[in-house]
Amino acid sequence: MAEFTMELNDDQKEVRDWLHGFAAEVIRPAAAEWDEREETPWPVIQEAAKVGIYSLDFYAQQYFDPTGLGIPMAMEELFWGDAGIALSIVGTGLAAVGVLANGTEEQIGTWIPQMYGDANDVKVAAFCSSEPDAGSDVASMRTRAVYDEAKDEWVLNGTKTWATNGGIANVHVVVAVVDPELGSKGHASFIVPPNTPGLSQGQKFKKHGIRASHTAEVVLENVRVPGSCLLGGKEKLDQRLARARERAKAGGERLKNAAMATFEASRPAVGAMAVGTARAAYEEALEYAKTREQFGRPIIDNQGVAFQLADMRTSIDAARLLVWRASWMAVNGKAFTAAEGSMSKLFASETAKKVTAQAIQILGGNGYTREYPVERMHRDAAIYTIFEGTSEIQRLVIARTLAGMPIR
Ligand SMILES: Cc1cc2nc3c(=O)[nH]c(=O)nc-3n(C[C@H](O)[C@H](O)[C@H](O)COP(=O)(O)OP(=O)(O)OC[C@H]3O[C@@H](n4cnc5c(N)ncnc54)[C@H](O)[C@@H]3O)c2cc1C
Repeated sequence: MAEFTMELNDDQKEVRDWLHGFAAEVIRPAAAEWDEREETPWPVIQEAAKVGIYSLDFYAQQYFDPTGLGIPMAMEELFWGDAGIALSIVGTGLAAVGVLANGTEEQIGTWIPQMYGDANDVKVAAFCSSEPDAGSDVASMRTRAVYDEAKDEWVLNGTKTWATNGGIANVHVVVAVVDPELGSKGHASFIVPPNTPGLSQGQKFKKHGIRASHTAEVVLENVRVPGSCLLGGKEKLDQRLARARERAKAGGERLKNAAMATFEASRPAVGAMAVGTARAAYEEALEYAKTREQFGRPIIDNQGVAFQLADMRTSIDAARLLVWRASWMAVNGKAFTAAEGSMSKLFASETAKKVTAQAIQILGGNGYTREYPVERMHRDAAIYTIFEGTSEIQRLVIARTLAGMPIR
């Protein structure tokens, strides 16, 4: 087990500087344009693929860094560049994690390369769990997967919503109900391969922030996928369902479902994204406060402004420490006995919302315009308290964990 450290080693510093260079030179200059266009920034994703930032290999290398700092450091730098574009680059990772967490080696080897494509023909992937009536309450999911034994195929029907890359993805990972009697324990995840008939994009959402990231409904009408597309395989599913039925009969402990496992694994990473956006806005505000003069002196000479900057920086550093701790715990197999992953996401996302609002205030009228990036950063920051579990759900998870109660 690696000791917890707050110091990046030389290799990590090199990767961080390289990512920062990409964020500063490629992502940030493109941010305003793709925010206005509200479209997936394919050329930027392709640039990322060319230099090696858009690939499973890169993220796997960061993930397996035993210090746990690889992923948070990468997310912070990319999202420092721009949240919408960075989500377009890392969004495929959520679907990839779904396959890594639940799939067999063969499924991982077959589908993950198709999620990313290659530098000459980049692809994206989507993870589809949320539904119009099943957001925080994952157990209310209605999308059904029914097994057609004669053909060894699964038939999927339902409507997914809020899917990042939904409808434009080469590979969709869809969570569906296989046994409605078991609530969230009766869910399973499926690969929907490229060009499968019956899968279509519904409404594409016009959003408040992260507008360069595509978010849409995914409609599934009699979508037939081979038996081999059930993540983990039929035997494992049957065993899991049998155990869940026994526990349900005995009124025993709840099993975590596949979607929940995916969200848990990705929470500190979302916290790191929020730290990146917060840091970007703080840096803009600090620079502005040092150069903008009113009443014959830089505005930072006023305690009212300087103290805001002091609070902003303190919260950002505290958020980063919570994120790094949670990532270190995850990589080293430490039990999250106080829901430290949720703590990191909660604190970092609330920090990003607050700090970006403070940055607007420090920039005055300029902060309120699209001429300056803090306006976009504030719109972007609002997402962190919503996706991957809202702030209220994080508090619920933390409180239930502290109380020793089951997490529903
Ligand atoms: C831009 C974007 C991208 C997304 N990407 C994906 C994706 O790729 N894949 C995917 O599957 N999903 C995705 N989501 C969905 C996201 O995870 C959900 O929006 C989120 O889980 C909240 O669900 P909801 O929107 O239905 O809100 P609701 O669950 O309806 O919540 C509404 C409000 O009620 C509160 N609330 C609900 N239950 C409780 C409770 N028990 N106690 C206290 N308060 C409560 C919530 O905190 C919130 O404030 C995305 C969403 C957005 C906006």
